[in-house]
Amino acid sequence: MTLQEVKGIAGKCVHYAMCRIDFLGTGVCASGTRSGYVSYYPQGRMEIAAALADEVIPVTEKLVDIVQSCTLCGKCDKQCYFVRELRPIKVMRALKDHIASHLEQGLAVVRPPTDDVLERLQAVTGAEWSSNDPAILVAYSVDRFPLTERRMPRYVTMPASTAEVQHIIKIARDADLPYTARGHGASSFAVALGDGIIIDLTRMKQLEVDPKTWTATIGPGVTAFDLQREANRHGMRAGVVEPAACVCANLISTNMHSLFSHAYGMGADHCSDAEFVDPEGELYTMNNPRQSNPFYFNKAGAGPNGICTQARIRLYPMTEDESAILVPFPTLQEAAAMAREVGHRRLGFAAGILGADYVSAFMAPTNETAEQLKQLFREKMGLEYSLLVLGDKYDLAAVKDLAEVTIDEKLIRTMMLSMPQLHGEAGLAMLSELPSDGTLYKTLFDEEMIPLIEAALSPSPDNIMPAVDEDMREFYRDLYQRPEMTNLVWLNMYRILSSRTGRGRPFFGMVMYMPFDEPEMIVELCEQLGAVADKHGLRNDFGYLIPIDFGKRAALEYDFYHDHTNPEEREHARAAADEAAETIDRYMKRMNGRSAAVVPFQGLCRKENLLYPEPAQ
Ligand SMILES: Cc1cc2nc3c(=O)[nH]c(=O)nc-3n(C[C@H](O)[C@H](O)[C@H](O)COP(=O)(O)OP(=O)(O)OC[C@H]3O[C@@H](n4cnc5c(N)ncnc54)[C@H](O)[C@@H]3O)c2cc1C
Ligand code: SF4
Repeated sequence: MTLQEVKGIAGKCVHYAMCRIDFLGTGVCASGTRSGYVSYYPQGRMEIAAALADEVIPVTEKLVDIVQSCTLCGKCDKQCYFVRELRPIKVMRALKDHIASHLEQGLAVVRPPTDDVLERLQAVTGAEWSSNDPAILVAYSVDRFPLTERRMPRYVTMPASTAEVQHIIKIARDADLPYTARGHGASSFAVALGDGIIIDLTRMKQLEVDPKTWTATIGPGVTAFDLQREANRHGMRAGVVEPAACVCANLISTNMHSLFSHAYGMGADHCSDAEFVDPEGELYTMNNPRQSNPFYFNKAGAGPNGICTQARIRLYPMTEDESAILVPFPTLQEAAAMAREVGHRRLGFAAGILGADYVSAFMAPTNETAEQLKQLFREKMGLEYSLLVLGDKYDLAAVKDLAEVTIDEKLIRTMMLSMPQLHGEAGLAMLSELPSDGTLYKTLFDEEMIPLIEAALSPSPDNIMPAVDEDMREFYRDLYQRPEMTNLVWLNMYRILSSRTGRGRPFFGMVMYMPFDEPEMIVELCEQLGAVADKHGLRNDFGYLIPIDFGKRAALEYDFYHDHTNPEEREHARAAADEAAETIDRYMKRMNGRSAAVVPFQGLCRKENLLYPEPAQ
């Protein structure tokens, strides 16, 4: 295939950076790990292919090296098919063919001229770790947020130490150049883009767990996945979120909130201290008594308060009897009442309501099966929302006691391993025999029914095979033989499924902290946001609702999806984002003093500032 033919695949990459972690046990792209620059990872190559096809960049020396260093091993194909159903290997082949033909024809290979700033950066990092080659820069120039266009930086630099970060900031200041810190660039809000120097911090991977103090000291290049794995090795757990997110970036930018926030809190709760390089290139720590607090709450949204070069992260205990339970509901109102109860009683170490859209996307191996499963949940079973609780046997017994119907881990596993059958003939035949009053799930998930469900669906990893592309079938069968792939505690700790959300289209999630004593206002706000997206023809859905601070507050996410490759849909997404912001603002005013929308870079302010803001006069 030619570059033009694969441009459609390349352009669909959402840059969530999942190809940078070994979440399926396939290993990670060796060329990327060796080099470090995003351009050498599959996601960077996807951007290079799209940019080359559109003549945004020329063929450069680095580009030739990037393309030739791909071994066509196919690891990225498995990873990317799993999360987004894309086939990057076609892009990698097309890139190789394109460059081979370019070189055979003796066409020009560009070497960008050096300059004073680049030489100074290279003197700090070593020549290899700072670049102005367009093939390097282009992988740092995009994000799928609809309100931003491509922003090409002038330099990318990859420091290895705090001292190097300090030097780089002084160089930027001398040259009057803006700079932007970058973890994995996966915020999906374009906040890691910049026009000057991109400081890619992913070489700074210090990671030390101290079992005595229940903490881990990490560098800014440590991902949630790496931290969780290391914490687990020591019998502990980190309250992390997206697996490919760098933990320092996540803490600072979006509070690292998740279902774990129910028990472990969010933002500054996760961190006992952190070290920063300020805009003058000087060091400070959060706990320095002579330092004025740069993490005070600023309603308008603070700017980044320097670059975090180290953080000490709290870890939490794990027990042998941990498991998960889902409590199904037909309405958000009913689910919210139960989630509040779970919050008030502090049951479990993670809790949150998920919509049918999320649950089906997590459970189903492909977009098509996810849509079918969602339809089955909604239309046949009357199941719209599920409260997921992770806890020990005492927590889960209490939740069972409080709930009318529950789905335990074994049944969840059965459903995951019966995927095409569940929404296919076997599932429909089973449902047609049950008495229906619009909430069929109550009959279906009654404890007495479980053996019948097992018998009707015969769960097995083999069942998943027909749902996926032929060449992926054996891989999927082997993958789903691993117990962790159907273990909800593991899946939540490592969060490998959430980047499947909106598999066909990237999403932008609006997150708000809401008072939980008026669930009807939460329901109303979701309806209003849904109406905004509907008006602009955008797919939209409820994301999650997490009880926080003993269920007095809740974190709400509502998602808009758009096809970023379609200019018309991007335009609609922009208009919808503006209108949604106005809608949220109206509700925030109504909730005066009782909550706040998520504001940028407030991750390390006290969470009380977000949950209990000063009322406006
Ligand atoms: C599918 C998906 C689901 C998500 N769900 C959640 C969720 O449930 N909860 C949640 O909290 N977040 C969520 N996020 C957001 C995401 O986890 C955060 O944006 C996270 O910061 C991304 O990590 P990153 O390394 O890619 O950060 P980047 O995109 O590289 O950086 C994010 C911001 O932090 C700045 N930054 C990066 N490193 C540093 C540093 N060392 N010092 C100072 N500033 C720095 C950057 O300049 C940028 O402004 C989700 C994102 C995706 C794509
Ligand atoms: S096929 Fe190429 S880009 Fe993909 S993981 Fe292998 S070496 Fe990396």
